[in-house]
Amino acid sequence: AYELPEFGRKVIRALEDAGFEAWAVGGWVRDALLDAPSHDVDVTTSAHWRDAEKILASCGYAVHRTGAAHGTITAVVEGEPVEVTTYRVEGDYTDHRHPDEVRFVDDIRLDLARRDFTVNAIAYHPERGILDPFDGRGDLGRGLIRAVGDPRRRFEEDALRVLRAVRFACRLGFDIEPQTQQALLECADGLEDIASERIGQELDGIVRTGRMGWALMNEAEVLGEAIPELAAMAGFDQHSPYHAYDVLEHTARVCMAVEEFTGGMASPALRWAALLHDVAKPVTFTQDDAGQGHFFGHPKVGAPMCEKIMRRLALPGELVAPTRTLVRLHDHYVKPTRRSVRRTLLKFENACPGRAEALTFALLDLKRADAVSKVDRVAGYAVELDKISAVLRRVIADGEAFRMTDLAVSGRDVMEATGIRPGPGVGMILRELLLCVVNGELPNDRDTLLRSLRV
Ligand code: ATP
Ligand code: MG
Repeated sequence: AYELPEFGRKVIRALEDAGFEAWAVGGWVRDALLDAPSHDVDVTTSAHWRDAEKILASCGYAVHRTGAAHGTITAVVEGEPVEVTTYRVEGDYTDHRHPDEVRFVDDIRLDLARRDFTVNAIAYHPERGILDPFDGRGDLGRGLIRAVGDPRRRFEEDALRVLRAVRFACRLGFDIEPQTQQALLECADGLEDIASERIGQELDGIVRTGRMGWALMNEAEVLGEAIPELAAMAGFDQHSPYHAYDVLEHTARVCMAVEEFTGGMASPALRWAALLHDVAKPVTFTQDDAGQGHFFGHPKVGAPMCEKIMRRLALPGELVAPTRTLVRLHDHYVKPTRRSVRRTLLKFENACPGRAEALTFALLDLKRADAVSKVDRVAGYAVELDKISAVLRRVIADGEAFRMTDLAVSGRDVMEATGIRPGPGVGMILRELLLCVVNGELPNDRDTLLRSLRV
């Protein structure tokens, strides 16, 4: 029950009318066979990209040279981008990441053979049907990620495939076929030769599937090659009556619990924070005379560590800032009072302007996930968190002040009331007033606030 969208058919028809061969391939075919929501259509063709470019441009489509060095152009058909790539094989990889050459070929089977996994190496043509020389359909049915060809060789060629295997396993809910899994472990150290932003892209892809918990349980060694700080968490005994699990297993459980509490809709920042919330535990560990473990101030140390890891992975600032703040505040004591909730909103507002409400809800999900992932599901704390969310909803519904724009006075009011000139002093006074209002020391009332400046 799948049909190639019209824009994909048009590209294939145009290339074949000009005497070349063309197929849909890769993600669209895989997802269509799984009945999953449709996906960008990638086309592979015997036409050299220069010919493909001419043919598709002559049909009136906009064509962009998005990767001409590897034989890829992108045509925009009915507003949809379609990637068109010339059949190719890759030459030797001497550096585990870039093939020394790309060679165009005229047999689609050779092109399918250079693809990473059997489920990604299936071609489909509206008239000729499926071409599946590596039994990708069999693996779709079995729920397996299996390398095309000799897995070790394929991961040695390009170590990024190690993370791609984990990403597809997470995304599709598949297992990794045992020989592919074995090769994954043998070749994961090749990731050290891969550019960190490419690793960051794949890791972010894994995080966004919502299945990082599964990945941590099953592929900790691979992930530890991608983020060495995670390797330090594996097997790290917490020496604590509150923790039955080592730091890594606890982290995996928190990742899973966050999905449970958000119905699988956790934001990327919350997912990253679940992954990194305890990242500083190994470096802050101390033991007292009774042998009990302590991690004094670990969220404070963890926040900059989290930022450093995410920056190293070239993740965008709008993801890093909220993640860092969630890590920083995950152990912060929030009480079920309006004042405590407003203070938390203010902290998020300062770190991530405009996103305080959503991040405070995310913090409560993270705290709940953290609590239930310790020794027992901590029932008492869950009740406390329910109360805090109820207060948070009320504070928001009542429009209580926690951001500068909520304040009943403006910079101009402050200048008029005090005679201070424009400059940083005005902002300092406004921030001080906001803090008083958030703390409940002054009402958010213009006259009262201005009167407070005159004493
Ligand atoms: P999605 O885009 O949904 O993550 P996809 O299968 O389209 O999934 P892409 O990364 O867009 O994945 O790659 C498109 C196709 O190119 C893949 O299906 C695979 O056949 C091939 N491919 C991509 N990257 C590699 C790689 N590093 N090694 C081998 N083949 C690859
Ligand atoms: Mg794709």
